[in-house]
Amino acid sequence: MSSDAEVHSHGAARSQGSGRSQGSGRSRVVQRRQGPSGGGHTHTSTSHGFDLPVLPEAVDIFDTTLRDGSQQEGLSLTVDDKLRVAEQLDHLGVAFIEGGWPGANHKDEEFFARAPAELRLSTATLVAFGSTRRAGVRAEDDEVLRQLVKANTEAVCIVAKASKLHVTEALRTTLDEAVAMAADSVNFLREHDLRVFFDAEHFFDGFRDDPEFTLRVVRAAEEAGAEAIVLCDTNGGTLPHDVERIVAGVVSDFECQVGVHFHNDSGCAVANSIAGVRAGATHVQGCVNGYGERTGNADLSAAIPNLSLKLNVRTIPADRLERITPVSHHIAELVNVAPNPQQPYVGSAAFAHKAGLHTSAIARRRDAYEHVAPDSVGNGTRFVVSELAGKSTLALKAQELGLDLDSDALSQVLDTLKELEYRGYHFEVADGSLELLLRKATGWEPRFFEVESFRVINDHADTGTDTTGDTTYRDGARHSLHTGRHTTEATVRIRVGDTRVVATAEGNGPINALDSALREAIGAHFPTLSAVHLVDYRVRVLDTGKGTGAVTRVLIDTSDGDRVWTTIGVSENIIEASWQALLDSIVYGLVHTEPK
Ligand SMILES: [Zn+2]
Repeated sequence: MSSDAEVHSHGAARSQGSGRSQGSGRSRVVQRRQGPSGGGHTHTSTSHGFDLPVLPEAVDIFDTTLRDGSQQEGLSLTVDDKLRVAEQLDHLGVAFIEGGWPGANHKDEEFFARAPAELRLSTATLVAFGSTRRAGVRAEDDEVLRQLVKANTEAVCIVAKASKLHVTEALRTTLDEAVAMAADSVNFLREHDLRVFFDAEHFFDGFRDDPEFTLRVVRAAEEAGAEAIVLCDTNGGTLPHDVERIVAGVVSDFECQVGVHFHNDSGCAVANSIAGVRAGATHVQGCVNGYGERTGNADLSAAIPNLSLKLNVRTIPADRLERITPVSHHIAELVNVAPNPQQPYVGSAAFAHKAGLHTSAIARRRDAYEHVAPDSVGNGTRFVVSELAGKSTLALKAQELGLDLDSDALSQVLDTLKELEYRGYHFEVADGSLELLLRKATGWEPRFFEVESFRVINDHADTGTDTTGDTTYRDGARHSLHTGRHTTEATVRIRVGDTRVVATAEGNGPINALDSALREAIGAHFPTLSAVHLVDYRVRVLDTGKGTGAVTRVLIDTSDGDRVWTTIGVSENIIEASWQALLDSIVYGLVHTEPK
């Protein structure tokens, strides 16, 4: 046996540009390198009773947010949104971006038509998605395949039924025809000089039911020249130990690249992706933020750092890993889904410590309390401050913000904090307002503008049977059908420097109207405000149990496109509470966006 181990290193292919250069159906790269063990696939013994191939050096990250991810309930993207999301994914450095299904809807056709002129991709290759030819139709006559060619991308991904049950029950055709559909479709696309990824739908369920048929389908795709066969857990119920066993078997039996595509129905999509790579898969599909129907697809925001930082497998370029948190948040905003604070690695709470007793220990040895360095994924350590916090937590928070507060000042802030929390404030969830509070404790006063007064008038005109007056409240109130017309008008009186401004604006609710009037008044003085906008508005009625009646707590989330901050207002009057939160939101935005 030679000492050269033949190691499949597919991941390296992408940096060399087009994988089509080899002309044949194979675009995988086989590299020879010195290795301690024998030729062919190198296997290591494991305690699982089967052999695992060596861990690949690199994997190709294939993002399907724009196709599978957009199946998520409530997630709907315009063509412009899709172009912006694709830009972000390219900025992150994924290898492939699945842009949509041009045969299935006009929006995706338009996306692929506009992409060549409007998308400048630096690292990613755009992929069009489709399915194999229909049963009983020649590939060249199949509309979906024709649309795929027309999409004019370098690579395509087609899905095929790979489970016997789905062929006989859903497709209602013969197993031989299903195999022919796979082979013909890949052949047809290869004849058009396209790189082909082959999604084997229901692969894992099909494999458990009838492995022979399932493997026949993927074998046909490989022989016809598919670049990668992608094993899909379409129902999302497979567990990691089965993934490792099944993927390892396929990797050792097939020459072409093996990929994996997991749904999260058993909560294991990321774990399964890791298991797949451990078993030798070198192509990982998923979505940033784990978007997708039901419980979502594998969350690439967790899969990528796990592979890169913990298994030392190359995914996106190493120097771009720190982009993953900002990109995750930016995409959340583009798709208009509120980010989950508890999302691993990228969530706002991923490295947040509600310190209590351990505060000083955490300050001394952060690495003892954090599984990776937050900076490595572009996130940061955050100390959560509440009325329970001691002075040391508050000192850490001030340090985090770069504020110089001595012991007396800290004691004073702590007293203020306790008093305000007693009245219904909750600074733990309002980082923006907390920061302003701490800044003020240093003697700082916001001098951007001064408020003289504000007024809100709500007009309701009953229009009987008219139902056209329904309104989507931008400020978060529930969309509902009203049989009346509402207009809300706000007037603010403001002083900016020596100028007194009175501005009036209409809105579809009080917050919207006040926000518009305030911007009307000061917008010209602070042009950076145009990038700052409210993204969420939450109201909670608190029963303080102090006999003074209920008070309203308002939380406003605001974004400048990169960061999101939360501000708070509390009052017996909902408009007053909202105004406080709104003012904090704007002042915080000015502190961070206006040139010093
Ligand atoms: Zn899927």
